[in-house]
Amino acid sequence: MTNAQIDLIDTVARDAPVFRVPVTVVDVLDDDERADLRIEIKRLLVQENAVLVAHYYTDPDLQSLAEETGGYVSDSLDMARFGHEHSAQTVVVAGVRFMGETAKILNPEKRVLMPDLGAECSLDLGCPPAEFSAFCDLHPDRTVVVYANTSAAVKARADWMVTSGSALDVVRHLISKGQKILWAPDRYLGDYIRAQTGADMLLWNSACIVHEEFKGRELATLRAVHPDAKVLVHPESPPSVIAQADVVSSTTGLITAVRTLPARKFIVATDRGIFYKMQQAAPDKLLIEAPTAGDSATCHSCARCPWMAMNGLRKLAAVLRTGANEVQVSPALGARAIVPISRLLEFSAGRQQVILGNNDA
Ligand code: SF4
Repeated sequence: MTNAQIDLIDTVARDAPVFRVPVTVVDVLDDDERADLRIEIKRLLVQENAVLVAHYYTDPDLQSLAEETGGYVSDSLDMARFGHEHSAQTVVVAGVRFMGETAKILNPEKRVLMPDLGAECSLDLGCPPAEFSAFCDLHPDRTVVVYANTSAAVKARADWMVTSGSALDVVRHLISKGQKILWAPDRYLGDYIRAQTGADMLLWNSACIVHEEFKGRELATLRAVHPDAKVLVHPESPPSVIAQADVVSSTTGLITAVRTLPARKFIVATDRGIFYKMQQAAPDKLLIEAPTAGDSATCHSCARCPWMAMNGLRKLAAVLRTGANEVQVSPALGARAIVPISRLLEFSAGRQQVILGNNDA
């Protein structure tokens, strides 16, 4: 693939809803305070019969704590699934609000805590439930498919929920049933799925402020400097970046790619928090951040989600001490929101059985 074959024009989602993006603030801790907090959190997790689940984009301090205490580090759906299967009565979700809500929807009998309930997501904020519901009402002939990065109220209006790892399969399944799709909220992921499947998709117009910042032209320049590097891209990125990818995949898929591909060097277009698990999976490989700066840059997030960064050791210790920041989803809303989530879980389980069946054969 040459640059001449790629459209390197960086695009941005137009007319997307406007919201406030917080300034990224990271806990500054000296070694003693970090060590003391880690000891206290470990003790409180046992005392409170709690388990810590952390997203790949959170600080390495939280990811390593989750691993050391029998918790889990993964993507949002897997985090909720783990919390469901674990015997702990309290699930502490280090991530953003929709992840806490999904955990609560799947575990209504458990207490779900978050270090900071103000940790949002631009995709969630960019899809207000009332406006989205009105949009759905205008298109009753379409199957409503929403990304995991949405509020419980938006999920409650959907037929299907998907993750970046399952979206292609679900949409192909819906095409096979002759269905037309209304997709929300990520415009870039929707564009990518539409291009891959040829599905008839009407797209809501929102974007991830982190992935939207990756730059096609600067990525091409960086590739020229590292021609031996494989380019790994999350599909929330703009088309100019996706067009240069060797692998387009979910967070879990990108970690697998680093571990399994024979290349020694990777340029990675997703939140840099994922480097903790990538380096763990392949300690001998070189990881390079995809550019969010350069001539065409308007870098606000610089490959670091400001909402994910709201999770830190001090806040985690505080919620375990006080029981504050409990995630609430009303039973009526949860009962509706679980429908598209369960549909995905059943679909994924069915596919897994088919794959295992094929292997057996
Ligand atoms: S990285 Fe993007 S999609 Fe993920 S939580 Fe932050 S704003 Fe949302």
